[in-house]
Amino acid sequence: MSSDCIFCSIVAGTIPAKRVYEDQLCLCFADANPQAPTHLLIVPKAHIASLAHAEEAHAPLLGHLMAKAAELARGAGLEHGYRVVINTGPDGGQTVDHLHLHLLGGRHMGWPPG
Ligand code: AMP
Ligand code: ZN
Repeated sequence: MSSDCIFCSIVAGTIPAKRVYEDQLCLCFADANPQAPTHLLIVPKAHIASLAHAEEAHAPLLGHLMAKAAELARGAGLEHGYRVVINTGPDGGQTVDHLHLHLLGGRHMGWPPG
């Protein structure tokens, strides 16, 4: 846990969030500034600053996060599809330095992203 990290504080419960799902490894909560009718964030409970900090040892955790994204998308009824995004670093548009997957759905997504 990183004491100055917003998402670590949400995991710890010291900052409130609309919690949707949690298990030993991850927490899913609603994005505070939704960009689609469904906009969930899936974060590892352990602090990893970004995907750029991931190593081979994180592969099971990363796989778990992806599988949960699919499960949560099914639970949200996104049968027409959805997008999973991991913004990484300044050029990737990352604003919170705790690895997170965005699960966006409920509208058509354009490509390429901005
Ligand atoms: P990124 O720009 O990929 O780092 O995404 C960070 C996301 O976190 C943005 O979509 C924000 O709207 C969201 N966010 C920031 N603070 C909170 C919070 N306290 N609760 C829920 N979502 C948040
Ligand atoms: Zn953190």
